[in-house]
Amino acid sequence: MNNNCYCCLLMLWARAIRAILANQKAIGEVLLQRDRDPRKVSEKDFFKECAWAIYVARFRVDTVRKKWPELEAAFLHWDYQQVCKNIASVRAAALRVINSARKADAVIQVAQWMCQTGWPTISERLLDGLTKDNQGNFVPDPQLITYLDRLPMIGETNAIFILKNMGYDLAKPDVLLTKLAPKFDYRGDKDGVQQFASDISQLVIERISVVEAVLWNAVSSKAELSFECPRCGGQR
Ligand SMILES: [Zn+2]
Repeated sequence: MNNNCYCCLLMLWARAIRAILANQKAIGEVLLQRDRDPRKVSEKDFFKECAWAIYVARFRVDTVRKKWPELEAAFLHWDYQQVCKNIASVRAAALRVINSARKADAVIQVAQWMCQTGWPTISERLLDGLTKDNQGNFVPDPQLITYLDRLPMIGETNAIFILKNMGYDLAKPDVLLTKLAPKFDYRGDKDGVQQFASDISQLVIERISVVEAVLWNAVSSKAELSFECPRCGGQR
């Protein structure tokens, strides 16, 4: 913990939990995140998470979610080897679901990279340097972000997003959380958001990625989260 007020963080946590308790979709996401384990990620899971990150980037998540079963069918249920053998038909099918050539091509390029590199090599790299701390957090090798962010349409933020969805305890520095963190005196960037989620994680005995999922869902539901802290007097 830095000099940040623990009372502020606990009050935010309580408000965020209250905001999502009646939201079954959010609770489902949080529970899913709690059980995620990078060691259990299959090659299809990995390909699927890359595709999800590519499709939701600068797109309405609800739209992608609604069309997801059709996208899964278009990408042959994440059989990347079959995708590589049927590029033209896969591309056409994907464009019929969501008309973005850039996104379809980026997903196909990920499949090609996986075919060329081979899953055993990729999987070994993904798990290399993985540690589990006493909070149950899966802490990745920091270089992993660089390993993924050179893939098409996957920059630093998307690399973190993919790793988080694979069960690594990273907080995605998206627009909602980079705005929330500075209200609690954290930097509004990748490291600030990670420290913010990590500090709350230690206070509430939850994984960092679970804290992130709770906060993200609370903020995106537009719940009233502001308060005046009785301990430090901060207006949050
Ligand atoms: Zn406070």
